[in-house]
Amino acid sequence: MKVLVLNCGSSSIKYQFIDTETKVALAKGMVERIGMSSAVLTHTPHGKEKIRIVGEILDHSVAIEYVIAVLLSPNHGVIKDKKEIDAVGHRVVHGGETFFKSALLTDRVMQAIKDNIELAPLHNPSNIKGIRATKEHLPDTPQVGVFDTAFHIKMPARAYLYGIPYELYKKYKIRRYGFHGTSHSYVSHRAAALMGRPIEELKIITAHLGNGCSMAAVDGGRSIDTTMGFTPLEGLLMGTRSGDMDPSVILYIMGKEGLSLAEANTLLNKHSGLIGLSGESSDMREIEEAVKEGNKKAANAVDVFCYRIKKYIGAYTAAMGGLDAVVFTGGIGENSVMIRKMSLSNLEYLGIELDDHLNENATGEVDISKSSSKVRVFRIPTNEELVIALDTEQIVREEALVKNNNL
Ligand code: ADP
Repeated sequence: MKVLVLNCGSSSIKYQFIDTETKVALAKGMVERIGMSSAVLTHTPHGKEKIRIVGEILDHSVAIEYVIAVLLSPNHGVIKDKKEIDAVGHRVVHGGETFFKSALLTDRVMQAIKDNIELAPLHNPSNIKGIRATKEHLPDTPQVGVFDTAFHIKMPARAYLYGIPYELYKKYKIRRYGFHGTSHSYVSHRAAALMGRPIEELKIITAHLGNGCSMAAVDGGRSIDTTMGFTPLEGLLMGTRSGDMDPSVILYIMGKEGLSLAEANTLLNKHSGLIGLSGESSDMREIEEAVKEGNKKAANAVDVFCYRIKKYIGAYTAAMGGLDAVVFTGGIGENSVMIRKMSLSNLEYLGIELDDHLNENATGEVDISKSSSKVRVFRIPTNEELVIALDTEQIVREEALVKNNNL
């Protein structure tokens, strides 16, 4: 099946056109600056040069039109007819408590996504715009929503409840949801495959370390706890987000500095984390450069970053009652030798022994632990688009089966 995978943000749309049989992205690209004066579409057909088109792309509908047009283009396209797009898979950030798996985007499902807008005011509206625009241009093509939260939503109440009055959970759905679900699911399944064992018998900790960072405890293939919470702000230190802290801190700062709710939100989400602590950058490559040049604040930021990962490894090992593998993924997890090494230092007592040589030379999907290590350590590049494409295919096939049986 050929699936168009879309990740629609407020001013950008990322896409991949994936053949689920070969698992190859036949084309990938991005539309940026939607609604601004000179929007840009970059498009790379498989095995060919990247092209760049600048145009006036006023809204998501025009952006989708451009994406379809470039896929059909005689010079840079990969299909001859719109009908070759068998299905569309959309990344949807927040599925609330409604969705524990991907779903065909029927009117009822769209309403449920709308009902969850309050939980993800920055993301779900853009996702909805993208879905509507795609339905407009591909009215007969099945569309599926794949939710960032779905993989985590069946975690036990002891992991998702916060210590606030229970009525507030009931009234406002305030609980831990967790994010990066497609990535945690994908890399944990890949780790099980690399170990040659059924995921049902494995206890795996996954660390998705990108601009946003989160970890998950995957016990028997199910996420039983994760570091991000009600929003993607909780847990690990991130590029610009604070992660865990005493909630009183923000109340105190708001009082002292006279910050509004919106300003406090910006402080925690945009000016904290690596950029806040280092005062240098939110980008780990730049932070690592600064550390090499002897920058103390940058070194502190890296220290806090790795210490949190280590703490959660301990916590999740306890939560699962054991550990078989740790997986690093995301831009930092896949590429930073230093972060992997520091996060796993002194964990030999847990059975984690990193092989320095393998760590320093890691590429592709690879086990970087010593052969004597009881716990395997993997570097596994994430592939959220492929998960979305495969999920989309599965849902479309399931729906077709249901329809046929009803006839
Ligand atoms: P996003 O979460 O936006 O998808 P990525 O997964 O691409 O982001 O991760 C971006 C992060 O990965 C940045 O902090 C970047 O500095 C970091 N990164 C990328 N390559 C390296 C590298 N070679 N060494 C250290 N960090 C890296």
